[in-house]
Amino acid sequence: MKLNANFQNLEQSYLFVTIAKKVNAYTAAHPENQLIRMGIGDVTLPLAPVVVDAMHRAADEMGKKETFRGYSPDSSGYPFLREAIAGYYGSFGVDVQPEEVYVGDGAKSDVGNIVDIFDNANTILVPDPVYPVYVDTNIMSGRKIVYADANKENGFLPMPQKGHPVDIIYLCSPNNPTGAVYNKEQLTAWVDYALEQKAVILFDAAYECFVGPGLPRSIFSIPGAEKCAIEFGSLSKTAGFTGMRCGYTVIKPQLQVDGVQAAQLWERRQGSKFNGVSYVTQRAAEAVFSPEGQRQIQENIAYYKRNAQVMVQAMKDMGLWYTGGENSPYVWFQCPNGMGSWEYFDYLLGEKEIVGTPGEGFGKNGAGCMRLSAFGDAEKTVEAMERLKRG
Ligand code: PLP
Repeated sequence: MKLNANFQNLEQSYLFVTIAKKVNAYTAAHPENQLIRMGIGDVTLPLAPVVVDAMHRAADEMGKKETFRGYSPDSSGYPFLREAIAGYYGSFGVDVQPEEVYVGDGAKSDVGNIVDIFDNANTILVPDPVYPVYVDTNIMSGRKIVYADANKENGFLPMPQKGHPVDIIYLCSPNNPTGAVYNKEQLTAWVDYALEQKAVILFDAAYECFVGPGLPRSIFSIPGAEKCAIEFGSLSKTAGFTGMRCGYTVIKPQLQVDGVQAAQLWERRQGSKFNGVSYVTQRAAEAVFSPEGQRQIQENIAYYKRNAQVMVQAMKDMGLWYTGGENSPYVWFQCPNGMGSWEYFDYLLGEKEIVGTPGEGFGKNGAGCMRLSAFGDAEKTVEAMERLKRG
């Protein structure tokens, strides 16, 4: 027996472990602390009432013989939810058909599992800094990874580089960790590049609900993307589903290699390794996309956006270089006075009692940067920014 030796090539997950250790040590030494945690990417507001009602109703159905549901007839999701998600895309002018939607238990699983349908010999392009799942899942299967440098010069929005052949391209917009958002022109350049390279774009749209008018919320708003892209959506940040677990993958039938549809392989993969999202969760997710659900979740999104605005204003007031915050729940900024990420992290923790996430935990280009999240409490966000501005 041999274990998968590729696992030895994974970086130890130092980032959040180290943060937790430092925070625990600080709180133990300062029991009266007033820590404000802006490091986590988890949401804090509860589910919308319409979602909770839908869960109650679904739970009642599960408790009666006549309406009980066992295994879902299709691991790709109940038609009511696939239709609701297709309708959601339609609401912002993107054509997605219900049968192109594959419901899953979150974008993390789908983004991680999609690699099953691709050959291990493919070369992978990921931005640096990056959401670590893209890197780790490809290291686990031994693929070659090349990096697209995101930095201050390109606004943390790397663009295609000619002469670097790649097969699979990861894009995330709005981006975690940088909060940067591609515009239509930039995404068109990526789609054209992918078509020319015969590459596929894996587009992580987990934060699309934060995108304001005039910027793309879906890669499928770009002509040609249907032939070269797969999109991942999530209800985690959109509707507070981090603990519920529901997301979706969209694959168009036009995405084919040698007459084989990528969608067929994904369906086959899911059919073999996944038994679908629970009925109760799918009914809850359906409620998110109802008119009342949309109205209610918009209140929560607006709350987080107001937090982001407070953070952006603080960056402006302090004259710090930043990105994100406008169409994203993350603000990514350059640490003041040339401080390194960890140095500034320690300063924020010790002097300001604020917990951030050091940028270099997301890749070498994150060195000297910090990520703050807008998913916290409004009053605490205001207080944290006041503390920062006090110098
Ligand atoms: N994609 C990105 C870029 C994320 O930042 C996250 C969560 O933080 C996810 C996906 C995970 O989403 P889900 O909760 O749907 O698995």
